Amino acid sequence: MSANDYDLLVIGGGIHGAGVAQAAAADGQRTLLLEARKPAAGTSSRSSKLIHGGLRYLESLHLGLVAESLREREILLEIAPHLVRLVNFHIPVYKETSRRPWQLQVGLGLYAALGRFRPSTRFERLPADDWENLDGIKTDGLEAVFRYSDGQTDDARLVRSVLSSAEELGCEVRYPAELLSAVRERDGWLIRYRCEEELIELRTQTLVNAAGPWVEHVRRRVSPIPEGRAVDLVAGAHLELKGTLERGIYYTEAPRDHRAVFCMPWKDRILLGTTERTHRAEPGQVTATPEEQDYLLETYAHYFSDTPEVLDSWAGLRVLPRAEGEAFHRSRETLLFRDDAQLPRYIGIYGGKLTGYRATAERVLRALSPVLPVRPLLADTATLKLPDVD
Ligand SMILES: Cc1cc2nc3c(=O)[nH]c(=O)nc-3n(C[C@H](O)[C@H](O)[C@H](O)COP(=O)(O)OP(=O)(O)OC[C@H]3O[C@@H](n4cnc5c(N)ncnc54)[C@H](O)[C@@H]3O)c2cc1C
Repeated sequence: MSANDYDLLVIGGGIHGAGVAQAAAADGQRTLLLEARKPAAGTSSRSSKLIHGGLRYLESLHLGLVAESLREREILLEIAPHLVRLVNFHIPVYKETSRRPWQLQVGLGLYAALGRFRPSTRFERLPADDWENLDGIKTDGLEAVFRYSDGQTDDARLVRSVLSSAEELGCEVRYPAELLSAVRERDGWLIRYRCEEELIELRTQTLVNAAGPWVEHVRRRVSPIPEGRAVDLVAGAHLELKGTLERGIYYTEAPRDHRAVFCMPWKDRILLGTTERTHRAEPGQVTATPEEQDYLLETYAHYFSDTPEVLDSWAGLRVLPRAEGEAFHRSRETLLFRDDAQLPRYIGIYGGKLTGYRATAERVLRALSPVLPVRPLLADTATLKLPDVD
């Protein structure tokens, strides 16, 4: 019997932390998750709330990412039908749109192929007679409209559901509980964390840093400091507008810089997003700026003739590998960094997608398997139904 209190400690109660905690508990590991604020307090409640293959990643030839995301989308539709549903997506193509109808036809065909031509990957080009029924999108200069389907969810609720599943499998979850330090010992880590006003110590065999935009903060609290990655935190803003969209989601192109902007029905409102802006302040201090509001409203006005009232605005942070050039074209693949190639006891999760959380968690567990004990399996997260929370 190990002297450690836990086999695996997860830092962060966003979708990645919840996913790793669930996978570890399903694997029979004694698991604890610490969250500094409350579950889904970070990026995982500020996403575009799409469970999608990422059609636009085809252009950068990230075919593996698209195929994995489409596979995960299928699994989530099966294990969480109360949380993930297919929605119609419309791509209007105007004379000035940068992608031509034939390019979209080819892209959607490839998307369907990567999704193994399942019924959920079907797409169509809508006849012109139907354009009038598309929530009032402007038809001047409209050349084509494509319709396909992708998933929509409630991101924060998905996190709570995965976390609840982890707890049902025996994982302990504590919040507000902030990791202060992790010091390497012979066969694991000595952990110090603060829970309310109390300072607590424990021992764990392995440590997973799933702190999202705080990943580098947490890495620097680990001693010796493990290898990491220079990252840019890239803010993405959303606006909530008064009104509804009856026909589904509109996948538009911002007139200013041709980036993708989604107009989505969301809880009796319209959700509009997103932007990309390098964020240099503390991760906790991210909001939608007036410039971002203008950019999003200008995009909306380009496609729709009404001018809805802005009811709310918020922003989240992407963790992207530091590089020159626009964030929009940088890889969205999840990177794992470990303290040791053969016998890792620390893994840091960088970047990633809500959609791929389960696959990422499986990768983390596989990477740690050389040091984790073999325990009786409790469940398979690919088939285990997620509980209905809230
Ligand atoms: C604008 C935007 C739109 C997006 N849209 C989509 C989308 O539509 N579909 C999709 O699949 N993906 C999307 N993504 C990506 C996805 O949202 C993120 O990859 C994902 O939510 C990141 O989750 P996380 O668990 O890594 O981080 P987070 O959700 O940020 O969780 C990290 C947690 O760690 C905690 N923490 C930090 N420090 C400590 C500490 N010292 N001790 C304890 N806890 C700590 C924080 O409080 C936080 O709760 C989007 C991202 C952005 C920014």
